[in-house]
Amino acid sequence: MVKLTLLIKATLDNVTELQPKNENHEFHFKIQCSSCHEEHPSTVPINRQEEHDISSSRGSASFVWRCSFCKRESTLSFLPPQAPSSGTLKAKKNAKIPTTTTPLPLNESDDWSVFLTVECRGMEVVGFDFEGEWKAKVPDSDTVFEDIVFEDGRWDEYDEESKLPCSIEDLEAKWVKA
Ligand SMILES: [Zn+2]
Repeated sequence: MVKLTLLIKATLDNVTELQPKNENHEFHFKIQCSSCHEEHPSTVPINRQEEHDISSSRGSASFVWRCSFCKRESTLSFLPPQAPSSGTLKAKKNAKIPTTTTPLPLNESDDWSVFLTVECRGMEVVGFDFEGEWKAKVPDSDTVFEDIVFEDGRWDEYDEESKLPCSIEDLEAKWVKA
């Protein structure tokens, strides 16, 4: 079993609180079998609201995968977002861990931020794609953009209320040990 935290980073221009638009957002993960190290051929959509039965036990997980190469079953479940176990974002002693698995919004530009945490058995997550719809708000404005879709890794809009151009670019993601 391994606990992994996804850190994200982006250049935010006149927007803040970047997060998935919906509770049932499909996160696109690149996964790899821990037994034979075969990578899944595509990114897989995983919904943290879903529960799937595990055939080898009575439990359930958000995502269950049988490796097409070695046939071993592996699982992934979402945990409340938590800081990495090492590095500069390391969790402070007595730091509060959120009580729900809701991803944490990205508020500031150009700095790695804890986004979500998963627990994997028999697989590892090795990549992340910013697919699907996202939302973000404009600081000091009532504007909330609710249909953000990234094309070629970026998004641009204009906020009528604050009369400011808004954009998101330089999206990056990395998995670290939680
Ligand atoms: Zn395998």
